[in-house]
Amino acid sequence: MVKPFIIGSESAQKYLQIGLEILGDRGTALDAVEVTCRAVEADPEDHGVGLGGIPNLAGQVTLDASIMDGRTLNAGAVADIKNYLHVISIARKVMEESPHVMLVGEGAELFASQKGFKRTTLSTDYSREFYRAFVEKRLHTLGPEYDVDIGYLREDEQEYDMETWYEKLKDHMRGTVNVIALDSSSNMASGVTTSGTYLKLPGRVGDSPIIGAGNYCDNRYGAATCTGTGELAIRNGTARAVVAYMKTGMGPLRACEESMKEIHEILETPSMNVIAIDAFGNTGGAATHREVPYYYYDLDCVDVETRKGTWVRK
Ligand code: ASP
Repeated sequence: MVKPFIIGSESAQKYLQIGLEILGDRGTALDAVEVTCRAVEADPEDHGVGLGGIPNLAGQVTLDASIMDGRTLNAGAVADIKNYLHVISIARKVMEESPHVMLVGEGAELFASQKGFKRTTLSTDYSREFYRAFVEKRLHTLGPEYDVDIGYLREDEQEYDMETWYEKLKDHMRGTVNVIALDSSSNMASGVTTSGTYLKLPGRVGDSPIIGAGNYCDNRYGAATCTGTGELAIRNGTARAVVAYMKTGMGPLRACEESMKEIHEILETPSMNVIAIDAFGNTGGAATHREVPYYYYDLDCVDVETRKGTWVRK
């Protein structure tokens, strides 16, 4: 029997235990991934995912998520969806109970309501305060990391200086959860859920729900998921690239490093991170801008293990 395990990005660390318990009970990788992602979605302290996610420029919290089944290559995703918390589960329903792979916006919300998901408010005191501080041009009062220059405009002012905006915010205004699991039947699954980049343009969709960009999983070769500036992973097709590299025989670490080199070719100072597993149970992680840790847990571990991702410099 294969040794089941689960890995996750920084925001999944606290919750990998929940997924591992499912794997330990001979549960599926898909269930382990979904349940772990749901736990992060419900955590109001995580401002990059689900409840308490930071709003877009129009003050709305909108979520993106995807899930992929490595056994069948089935996948489901939702994007730009409001007022539903467990978007990873809605993505799974899209995969399992619709003929489609991806639903967005109002259509995704309609589908969720028809499948029995309950509408809810995603903003919290903190996320509302964050938005108010942005509108009142006092983001710096929230902490030194937000001490950016002023001058960004709300949707109702109908003017965006997007380039400057992303340039200033790109390194510290986001968060996403990545979870990949391998179960005792040697099946793997991967999930990504996020509220996307902080104060994004309304309608913006990142890499997280785009199969091949932020998420890809194939039992035969491995799985990969991304965090960071989603636009880069979309342009690069990062998750699929990493899996394709593993298909050629590269281990997950080298495959992740190779894809981060490609990202450096797109942009001068990128901020992108990818984690991966291969079909033999090896793991890897790499990022463009610092050593980003990721977290590993199997049934023999006493506690969640921190693994170091490589910092791939230009
Ligand atoms: N990749 C996510 C996005 O672009 C954000 C993040 O990972 O922090 O929406």
